[in-house]
Amino acid sequence: MRKLFYEDPYLKETEARVCRIDGNKVYFNQSIFYPEGGGQPGDRGTFNGYRILDTEKDGDDIAHIFESTEDLTEGENGILSLDWGHRYAFMKRHSAQHLLSSVFFRKLGVGTLAVHLAEEHVTIELDRSSLDLAELMAVEDEASRLVRKALRIEQRDMIRSEAEALHMRRSIKVSDPDVKVVFIEGQDAVACGGVHVSSTAEIGEISYYDSEIIRGHIRTVWKVDDEAVRSRRDNLQIVKEASRILSSPPHEIVGAIASRVDEIETLKREIRALHSTIASAEAEKIQSFSVHMTELGLDELRSILTKRDGICDVLIVRCGEKKEFLYLGSDEHFKELKNVLSLRGGGRGGVYQGSYISEPELLFSSAKGVIDEFKG
Ligand SMILES: [Zn+2]
Repeated sequence: MRKLFYEDPYLKETEARVCRIDGNKVYFNQSIFYPEGGGQPGDRGTFNGYRILDTEKDGDDIAHIFESTEDLTEGENGILSLDWGHRYAFMKRHSAQHLLSSVFFRKLGVGTLAVHLAEEHVTIELDRSSLDLAELMAVEDEASRLVRKALRIEQRDMIRSEAEALHMRRSIKVSDPDVKVVFIEGQDAVACGGVHVSSTAEIGEISYYDSEIIRGHIRTVWKVDDEAVRSRRDNLQIVKEASRILSSPPHEIVGAIASRVDEIETLKREIRALHSTIASAEAEKIQSFSVHMTELGLDELRSILTKRDGICDVLIVRCGEKKEFLYLGSDEHFKELKNVLSLRGGGRGGVYQGSYISEPELLFSSAKGVIDEFKG
């Protein structure tokens, strides 16, 4: 099984022969398809036009996961063709991750614990509980400078002792006697079996995006190349839109939002005070043995009425969006009301709350009849 992606990571097409078919998995005599590993996803593409959805390691072999293998036969020759856009984007992201990890190590003395390469971003989990924005910006600056310097990136096969003598920033994870070491000219060396671009210049833009603390370690998120450009443009759009809505120039948006939040808090306080005044006025009108319709929230009325002595057999029907009721009276009378009027809810100590299903006007008139009887 010849792994052509190590001989030339830029090979987009190659001839290959089907050696074995096992369900949807196909094994070839040689391949340009990189299998999932080292934080990099498996390649996708086609063989003679048939879709390959993913690629996985299978021992020392490579399993190509086909959409369907119905029309394939063992021994068949054909053309393997990569989804090059997908692969090249990951070569850039992977190389950007090496560069960033090396800058973190050389500049801040911080090691990389784990990495993940996704479609939209690269995440690097670091051996540090926190980093401030100035440190992260310094790393972004340095990585960007190294991109502009167009440093050569190459992968070399080395015997283990030779690789160990390099005292690399990360210990060698595989146990093989031969090790693949990826060098960034004058900057970094690390054991890695992935595929990378051949110059830092190909990486394009690298930009810091976000970070979060996971299990006591900081996990940083980076945007690379097209994604960095897209994210920058998206953010510009957001700022422009916010600026338009708030009628403030971009540099005043934060201040404008803060003052709007203050205004809202003040208005909320004023509304609460008004509610309380209205509720007091409304509560004034409520007498024992009566039914009331209201559009107010019931909590306010409840707190006023329960403080009043001797009030009983009062049903308050909230109309509008929320069909709720409040009843002040005896447990026995509440049970009867609940039955006759099909109320849902409960309570104790003379205070009962819940909801109703009928129309408020209908409830109002039926309830009036029942409560008048209590009076009698
Ligand atoms: Zn790598």
